[in-house]
Amino acid sequence: MLRVRCGNDNHGRSVVTVRFCSGCGVIVNDRIHTGGCAPEKHARRRRTQSTYCVDCGTRLVQGR
Ligand SMILES: [Zn+2]
Ligand SMILES: [Zn+2]
Repeated sequence: MLRVRCGNDNHGRSVVTVRFCSGCGVIVNDRIHTGGCAPEKHARRRRTQSTYCVDCGTRLVQGR
C-alpha cells in the first residue's frame, strides 16, 4: 500500500475513523466503507477547509 504523508493527523493516528485523508485524499483506512455523499455535506466540509472529502475522496477544493 502506498504510504503518503501530507502532514494531516490522519496519517499519524493509530485509530483512523475516516476512509480518506482530508489533506491529500489517499485512503487511510480501507476497512471503512461509506455510501455516497450529499452535496450539502461537501459544501459543509469545504467550509471547514478540507481539501478532500473523508468519506468518498472527492476533491472539494479546486485549483493547484
Ligand atoms: Zn494525507
Ligand atoms: Zn464525499
